[in-house]
Amino acid sequence: MRITVIGFWGAYPEQGSATSCYLLEKDGYSCLLDCGSGALSRLQSYKDVMDIDAVVLSHYHNDHIADVGVLQYSWLVQNSIQNTNKVLPIYGHSEDEENFKKLTHNSTKGISYDPTRVLEIGPFRITFMKTKHPVPCFAMRVTDGEKSFVYTADSSYIDSFISFSEGADLLISECSFYENQDGTKVGHMNSKECADIARKANIPELILSHHPHFGNTQDLVREAQNYYAGNIQLAREGLTWGF
Ligand SMILES: [Zn+2]
Ligand SMILES: [Zn+2]
Repeated sequence: MRITVIGFWGAYPEQGSATSCYLLEKDGYSCLLDCGSGALSRLQSYKDVMDIDAVVLSHYHNDHIADVGVLQYSWLVQNSIQNTNKVLPIYGHSEDEENFKKLTHNSTKGISYDPTRVLEIGPFRITFMKTKHPVPCFAMRVTDGEKSFVYTADSSYIDSFISFSEGADLLISECSFYENQDGTKVGHMNSKECADIARKANIPELILSHHPHFGNTQDLVREAQNYYAGNIQLAREGLTWGF
């Protein structure tokens, strides 16, 4: 499988970029994990919008779902232009019914995932874990049967990330704060906490994403290196992992 970072900012996208969105591909199947602000525009540098087979959403904060609405419009318009009738499945949790309902539109269908069960989509199997965040949010462990990675989505540090992530090949962690800052109250992690999860769960590679809009984000990597000996990369648009 191959992962491409489409958007990596927390909260809002800085000029020319996007908030949380990751393109997941294998054997011609393509899926988006989250669809934040700016994602639809940036995605098109890598993939035709109509070539997306599914979207899976971690939670309903705007920096993870802002472009779902325009994604729905793009499918509506392209279906009309191409005289097709394709329907895009958008998977989300149903603990927030109002937001879940919005996933269904003319050319998209909202599908509720049961976070206690494995979700099978295309070649991928996804398991979920509820995170610690102001709204219901689910981390995902994704495998294609060969490799696996964990996407923390948004969360403050919780020990259960370690057993959930144990033995994965990659951790994509939200990293909203620097080491000397405590994100617990607002439901986010700092660089040391990301490194702690990667180290304790024996994960060989770490991508720090969901960046803050202050400080020098390269410092996030330097700080994490003090607690984790594996390979650390700072998320950026177009960064790919896998084969
Ligand atoms: Zn977020
Ligand atoms: Zn959030």
